[in-house]
Formats: sequence, structure tokens, C-alpha cells
Amino acid sequence: MAVLVVADHSGGTLADGTARTITAALELDATVDVLVAGEHAQSVAEQAAALNGVNRVRICEDAAYAHQLAEPMATLILSIIDEYSAVMAPGSTQGRDVLPRVAAVLDVAQLSEITRVIDKNTFERPIYAGNVMATVACDESTQVITVRTTAFEPAASGQSALIEAVPAPETPVAARFVEESVVRSERPELGSAKVVISGGRGVGSAEGFKLLEKVADELNAAIGASRAAVDAGYVPNDYQVGQTGKAVAPDLYIAVGISGAIQHWAGMKDSKVVVAINRDEDCPMIQTADYALVADLFDALPELEEGLAQL
Ligand code: FAD
Repeated sequence: MAVLVVADHSGGTLADGTARTITAALELDATVDVLVAGEHAQSVAEQAAALNGVNRVRICEDAAYAHQLAEPMATLILSIIDEYSAVMAPGSTQGRDVLPRVAAVLDVAQLSEITRVIDKNTFERPIYAGNVMATVACDESTQVITVRTTAFEPAASGQSALIEAVPAPETPVAARFVEESVVRSERPELGSAKVVISGGRGVGSAEGFKLLEKVADELNAAIGASRAAVDAGYVPNDYQVGQTGKAVAPDLYIAVGISGAIQHWAGMKDSKVVVAINRDEDCPMIQTADYALVADLFDALPELEEGLAQL
């Protein structure tokens, strides 16, 4: 039996999370197939086939998968599930939407957001906003697993696996696509950026975030935010890092005017180096960061931008 990884993709590009999920899948089983479903998905299938360790890519091109809605996606996965002992997907919006349906139809318990594969039946996953790591055993007949992608390195590319077509099963019509609202940005994607600079309530306004943008321009960084900054309307909701926002694991995370509540830490604690800029030397973010600058952010950020521009 093998593992089936459900690919995440948009705009003709395979998501980085899929390459990371393949790494997790290879720790579970040596035979890993990737399912690519979409209306025009050939180039995505080729990107998946190039990832080292992939046994074969199974492609299903049909208008029913144009927006990868959960109902048709789950039906497609279920049509080939008998060939697999496990199905895995990134713990993205897509994976979180599709896999629970698969688990429900199979009548098995889903394992969500695994961060480590210990052996074929044993996994690690965070609970209580990442404050406790649980070791969980899963002896379901088919394992249905979402992956905390920041915990795994992406599979490298260089090979060329077989690409095979899968017929599209009859698709339920209960849900239909209405509209997608996408924010286009020149910046790196928050979930996979190497450098992230995030602002909190201390930034004070949407105008204040322009100071972060200038530093981000110098560092080619993505911009994130605490929930307090999002709730205050300084930045859009999809900037939120944390327990109820995005999980990030950049090489460098700069937290500006963020106190460091556990719910925020839950989303950025896997960052390699954390820098805190805060005027409160006793706040948790300053206390736990690798490098702490106790300063007023309205003085520190322009100085930082100026210094970086001179490099
Ligand atoms: P504050 O805690 O108010 O901190 C603001 C900081 O700015 C302070 O440390 C202050 O010293 C500093 N500051 C102010 N002015 C300046 C200045 N001029 N210069 C320098 N520093 C300055 N939070 C998240 O972030 N992400 C989540 O996903 C999330 N999920 C949650 C889920 C649940 C169920 C709950 C209950 C809460 C969640 N929260 C989340 C909220 C979390 O508990 C905190 O309330 C939030 O993270 C606080 O945001 P903050 O650090 O920006 O604000």
C-alpha cells in the first residue's frame, strides 16, 4: 500500500506546502503518489512529478475541479482510496476543507496538523495552541492526515515521475463556486517567506504599518500581524499569525509592537531567529526573542530602514 498526497495549487503553481507534505509522506511510506486535480492541471502535475521521492502523479483534469471544491475533491479521492493506506494533505484551507469529508465517509478519525512521523502508526501533533506536543497513535484502516507544513522541509526537485490520468467520477452538485476574492501582492507569501516582519497593536494604525512595509521592502519580507492589529483594522485578516491565523517558520521573524501572547507564539515559534522590538522590556516577546530591542518602534523602524538601505 502507498500514501496519496493531495496537491494544493493555484494559478498553475504547485504550493510549497505540497512539497513539504511529500517529505512527511515519505517518512510514512516509501511509495508516495500525488493527486493533482484541476481544470487545466498539466503544468502543476509536471511540477509535482519533478519532486524527488514521488512515485507517480495522478492527474484528473475536469471543470468540476476548477476551484477544488471540497465535495468533488473528496469524491475523487474516495474513488481511488482503496489503493492507499493513507491520504495526506497540507493543513491549508484546502486540506482542512477536503480531508474531513474523506474521513467522515470512510468513518475514520482524522489526524490533524501532524508535526512529526514517529513510525507507521505514531505521530506528533501540537495541542493547546502548541503548548503541548501530543504523541498520538492511529490504527485506522485508512489514515487521513493533514500536515503542519512548517514542520517539514520541502522535497527537492530533480526527477521526472510518471504522470497518469484518473477518470473523474460523477460529481455531486450540492455546492457551487460563486466567487473568489484574492489579494495580489508583490511580496513573498506569508506562509513560506524566509523573512517576516509582523506588527501588533503597538503599531497603532494602518498608517503605522507603512513603516513596516519600508523595512519589508529592504528585506524582501512578508508582512504579518497579531490578532489585535487585525481586529483593530490596521491590516487585512489574512495577515494574522498565530493560533487562529497562519503558522509561519521563516529564517527571521521580526515582531514589532507585539506583546507575545501564547496564541501569537503558537503561529511563529518555529521561526529560526526571532527579533522583538518593543518598548516594554518585561513583555513575553522581549523576554523570549533571540534578539530584543527595547525601543519605541516609531524611532527604531526608520533607523532600521535607513541602516538596511546603506548595506
Ligand atoms: P498587545 O498585547 O496589546 O501588545 C501590544 C504591544 O505593543 C505591547 O507589548 C506594548 O508594549 C507594545 N507597544 C505599544 N506601543 C509601542 C511603541 N510605540 N513602540 C514599541 N512597542 C510598543 N493573537 C494573535 O496574534 N494571533 C492569533 O492567532 C490569536 N488567536 C487567538 C485565539 C484565541 C482563542 C484567543 C483567546 C486569543 C487569540 N489571540 C491571537 C489574541 C492574543 O491573546 C493577544 O490578545 C494578541 O496576540 C495581542 O496582540 P498584540 O501583542 O498586538 O497586542
